[in-house]
Amino acid sequence: MTYDFDLFVIGGGSAGVRCARIAAGHGARVGVAEDRFWGGTCVNIGCVPKKLMVMAAEYGNAARDARGFGWHCEDGTHDWHTLIANKDLEISRLNAIYRRLLDNAGAKIFESRATFLDAHTLDVGGQRVTADKIVIATGGHPTRPAFPGGEHCIISDDAFFLPERPQRVVLLGGGYIGVEFAGIFAGLGSEVHLVMRQPLPLRGFDEDLRTGLVEALEADGIRLHLSTSPTSVENLGGVKKVHLTDGAVLTADLVFAAIGRAPNVAGLGLDRAGVETGKAGAVIVDTHNATNQKHIFAIGDVTDRLNLTPVATAEGHALADALFGPGPRHWTLDRVPTAVFSSPPLATVGLTEHQAAQRGPADIYLSRFTPMRHALSGRARKTLMKLVVDQATQKVVGAHMLGEDAPEIMQGLSIAINCGATKADFDRTVGIHPTAAEEFVTMRTRTRVAEAPPETDVTPLTPPAEIGVAEMGVGA
Ligand code: NDP
Repeated sequence: MTYDFDLFVIGGGSAGVRCARIAAGHGARVGVAEDRFWGGTCVNIGCVPKKLMVMAAEYGNAARDARGFGWHCEDGTHDWHTLIANKDLEISRLNAIYRRLLDNAGAKIFESRATFLDAHTLDVGGQRVTADKIVIATGGHPTRPAFPGGEHCIISDDAFFLPERPQRVVLLGGGYIGVEFAGIFAGLGSEVHLVMRQPLPLRGFDEDLRTGLVEALEADGIRLHLSTSPTSVENLGGVKKVHLTDGAVLTADLVFAAIGRAPNVAGLGLDRAGVETGKAGAVIVDTHNATNQKHIFAIGDVTDRLNLTPVATAEGHALADALFGPGPRHWTLDRVPTAVFSSPPLATVGLTEHQAAQRGPADIYLSRFTPMRHALSGRARKTLMKLVVDQATQKVVGAHMLGEDAPEIMQGLSIAINCGATKADFDRTVGIHPTAAEEFVTMRTRTRVAEAPPETDVTPLTPPAEIGVAEMGVGA
């Protein structure tokens, strides 16, 4: 049987665009459908605009920091409309680039919704289209809260288009989005309350980063409500009252729910194609991203595994290569570095101390210091760096950092860790001075040994020692 397309990709986000573009480059006849915006969540209502807003928030503090270096700076006032307008311009530019990439690669673009009619046939904006292979790359969406008054909360999709900056914000959820937007709004001058049901933010991250982040958020004036959850939200003529399980009632102009995301599968007709889904509707795939229908694949957030843009693009690229190119690429979901653009940011790769200890004794190297900039700025801001080393092999199995430039630094470190570098390899690497990053190759004294019999907790963590200002060579 001949099909209209060799490959049809449903969804023009990071995963779908990469897959369609690379497959078309390999000579496949490719169609791709997107009914909202090219580039998907990341480009339009996620990573990219978020990072621009993080940068905006940093400028307020940067001006204050400059006084310690001799600049006479008044506290600035921030114009939200300028930020949003300039952000929108940049996003439109990127949007167009994504579309052009597909065009240039020779993919046929459909700016409409695609749904399955059967396992090889799609309805694409009213048009019947057949394809030999089909890729589901529809992404995910923020979950809306189920408690009474949940409809008074915004979700991250809305946060990029607010007409005004709210004066008082309550953020619900201590995950990536809650923590990142807490920094954005606080940096721009809002009163921020961050509510989470865990005792620390960012469940799953290394405990030292989590405790360090609590200190950093509090130092920036963010009010934390830990180990508590919202029970309801009232809307009293625009002013919101947020009721928490600990009895507190918070007053806000904006309540922002950041309580996770769910796969976009509603209305796709997966049942008509016989595609199996799992928890929360996530499309179930094998290690080659194939669904139970061997010619239908799923990539990116719709599979709800590691919901990160670079993972989605890697999956899309690998799949296109495997189906139409030189064969499967080898890559792994192990040791994927990730960053949270909190204020300051944090980044991590590999095992946490707790995870490493479950596998055997681990040597822990921990350093906490005032970055050089803040020796003069006077801002109460610390940097924390940590290496987790498997004692038996001396391989560095985890690296963690909270502090300015952490995401930039972690990208390089993740190469070394993915290559299996040992602590001795780190030790014989000469640092770049004066930087914060050099601390990663100058941590000589083991802070502690983490040991835990399987399924038990490691010994409670001791606070890291203060070691002064790293860029001045302390700790070398
Ligand atoms: P996360 O899963 O990161 O965090 C969700 C938070 O909401 C957690 O603190 C969770 O608590 C809490 N929560 C969940 N359900 C409830 C509930 N019913 N009541 C109260 N609290 C609740 O989700 P986000 O929305 O922050 O982000 C979604 C995903 O998007 C991230 O996991 C990440 O994959 C991706 N992302 C990545 C970014 C990056 O790479 N920098 C930036 C932003 C998003 P608990 O821990 O107890 O479950």
